[in-house]
Amino acid sequence: MIETQTIAPAPADTRRDLIGLSREELAQELAALGEKPFRVKQLWHWIYHQGETDFPAMTTLAKGLRETLAERFAVRRPRVVTEQNSADGTRKWLLAMPDGNQVETVHIPEEDRGAVCVSTQVGCTMTCRFCHTGTQLLVRNLSAAEIVGQFMLARDSYGEWPTPTDETRHLSNVVLMGMGEPLLNYDAVVRAMKIVMDPEGIAMSKRRVTLSTSGYVPNIRRCAADLGVKLAVSLHAATDEVRDAIMPINRKYPIAELLAACRDYQEIAGARQYVTFEYILLKGVNDSLADARQLVRLIESSGIGAKFNLIPFNAWPGAPYETPAVKTVQAFAEVLTAAGFAAPIRVPRGRDILAACGQLRSASERQKLSRVRARQAEGIDDPHAPPEKS
Ligand code: SAH
Ligand code: SF4
Repeated sequence: MIETQTIAPAPADTRRDLIGLSREELAQELAALGEKPFRVKQLWHWIYHQGETDFPAMTTLAKGLRETLAERFAVRRPRVVTEQNSADGTRKWLLAMPDGNQVETVHIPEEDRGAVCVSTQVGCTMTCRFCHTGTQLLVRNLSAAEIVGQFMLARDSYGEWPTPTDETRHLSNVVLMGMGEPLLNYDAVVRAMKIVMDPEGIAMSKRRVTLSTSGYVPNIRRCAADLGVKLAVSLHAATDEVRDAIMPINRKYPIAELLAACRDYQEIAGARQYVTFEYILLKGVNDSLADARQLVRLIESSGIGAKFNLIPFNAWPGAPYETPAVKTVQAFAEVLTAAGFAAPIRVPRGRDILAACGQLRSASERQKLSRVRARQAEGIDDPHAPPEKS
């Protein structure tokens, strides 16, 4: 006979997560426990320099304090749902947040360094037509803890604690190029990057952080003053006509306004700071030599110190575009380099695990969408009905 036993579910862990709190907030929490302000420095060091998640192991703190902290607080990481390794060394995690929402984080190794590509939202409301993330149903902003947590989890995965020196670390850069539009989750992104750039913790210098935006103009200038990190702008077209067709945001903030904000960014963040213009190449849409010449004229006349990053379109199932031939991409690049611009062609990384730019989309969403589509095909669902709740 098989006996079944019902076990009561463990009570939810309601302890407050210390990840994502600023130094000032951490100081307030400690002050409430009657601790002196200098303890913040020690705690910060354990959490963000040592990568320690276990209070009892924080041996420079008094035993009593360690016990109190463990009762009231936690140092959490996002939960790993899956980890995939590409043949080219790229590693992608599907991470679950406490409410069950999932996002993807990618590590792209180079020879002696590597960038961790971090998500800022679950899904994205910008609906750029070439982007897989933009077709995702659910959207919510990630918290600062969830953004910082992605990078910390990547460091756990490579055992890169305590924080190595800038020269010796493998996870040397942070790029806000995962799922979501960082400038639409402004406060959490700024808070998270301030934590990541704190010199006594994760210690990422601002030239090692790149924020990529589709061009939410109002927050570009703010960001120059608040963070001053490297700015990458998803331009993708040299005329409003083409940009309107592929990026709905352009109807609200057209190219001239976007470039004016970039010029100001450069001025505020420091003139030596180049703006990188990302340019996705879509076959027959924006990849001709005439497009390349127009792009040169546009950026030359803008007066912005600029570099390009050419991204041949990464296909995804059901995408409405195609990737141009290698020859076409090279010819496009030559026009830009002949005009004196750096214009590397980005080699897609992790394509075999759908980790390349614009391919990110959580597996649960992929499954959910295919269920919705299957039901729509059977005539069960009204296609205009709001998406299912997860
Ligand atoms: N939301 C931000 C950052 C995330 S997207 C932004 O749009 O800038 C990171 C980069 O990938 C952007 O330049 C984006 O335009 C590009 N991208 C999106 N879909 C792509 C695809 N299918 N192929 C290649 N690049 C893509
Ligand atoms: Fe959002 Fe960026 Fe994708 Fe556009 S390209 S839908 S802004 S993630």
